[in-house]
Amino acid sequence: MIAVLRLGHRPDRDKRVTTHVALVARAFGADKIFVDREDKKLEQTIRDVCRRFGGNFEIETGVNWKGIIKEWNGKKIHLTMYGKPLREKIDEIRRERDILIIVGAEKVPGEVYRMVDYNISIGNQPHSEVSALAIFLDRYTSGKWEYKKFDGEIEIIPSEKRKKVVKRKKLPSEEECIDMLSKQGCSQEVINHCISVKNLAVKIAELAGADVELVKVGALLHDIGRSKTHGISHGIEGAKIARELNLPDEVVNIIERHIGAGVTKEEAVKLGLPPKDYVPKTLEEKIVAHADNLIDGNRKQKISEEVERQLKRGNKDYAEKLMKLHRELSQICGIDLDEI
Ligand code: SAM
Repeated sequence: MIAVLRLGHRPDRDKRVTTHVALVARAFGADKIFVDREDKKLEQTIRDVCRRFGGNFEIETGVNWKGIIKEWNGKKIHLTMYGKPLREKIDEIRRERDILIIVGAEKVPGEVYRMVDYNISIGNQPHSEVSALAIFLDRYTSGKWEYKKFDGEIEIIPSEKRKKVVKRKKLPSEEECIDMLSKQGCSQEVINHCISVKNLAVKIAELAGADVELVKVGALLHDIGRSKTHGISHGIEGAKIARELNLPDEVVNIIERHIGAGVTKEEAVKLGLPPKDYVPKTLEEKIVAHADNLIDGNRKQKISEEVERQLKRGNKDYAEKLMKLHRELSQICGIDLDEI
């Protein structure tokens, strides 16, 4: 947990600067900001940014700052031009996981200097709490803040020449997914199966470093097409429903490409499906497809059981594809998926 405590906020005078302190905290890797004076407008501004641009950043204003410092379960770092140079202490501070970074506005009360573990200067010239915080967070995270994923409704695509923004559709919550399944007419058996696939898919996604939220939603909705048919086209029917429900394309693709270990365009033609490649492409698509292969009803089975079943049906190529996907994901996860 990286938290920032902003002292001396005067809602009438410091609106812009405190907003910038909060925005820097959020963008450069902090999880939360505390502001000493209550400012509901500021809270609303920051929550609005979080809603649109994503992330789980929190803001709390009107806090008892002394209480926050006293009760902080971790190291407390006050940024002040009078402190020890950052370069001398940053390696030591970087070892700490839970830090509270304190920045001031005008004069900071003397007791703050005594209540903290570190008084740190970012150069010994006066500048600003915004710059001090930005530089501190950059050094503390060793630049890793740049890779933080926010998964917001709005995402800015780096571009050399023009403003490029994509608006992403929001992922539904777990409750909303279950609600969609039952509203579409899926049986309780199908819903229970979807929940079992979701539980396994999430475990695999965590091990594989995949997008867990996307996998969760894709797995819960992968069989939504079973409200229409239990035949092989249930993936296609499901994708159709997902498009009608205005779900993000990533979810639609998971549903459409979850059949077995993938159906190529040629195989689709032979199976009487619309001619299209239904092979899972992204890591998340592969995870949901394979979690489904490993869940028989609600029971986790070994890949060998599914392979044998397919061999008995004479589906040799298909059995090989299953094994290939199993090996690929097991390698990414660093563990045989039969063992999880
Ligand atoms: N004279 C004030 C003081 O008590 O430090 C400076 C106020 S300054 C406008 C507001 C805040 O910016 C400070 O409380 C401190 O957190 C931060 N700050 C400004 N210059 C800094 C520096 N060189 N190193 C670290 N923090 C600095």
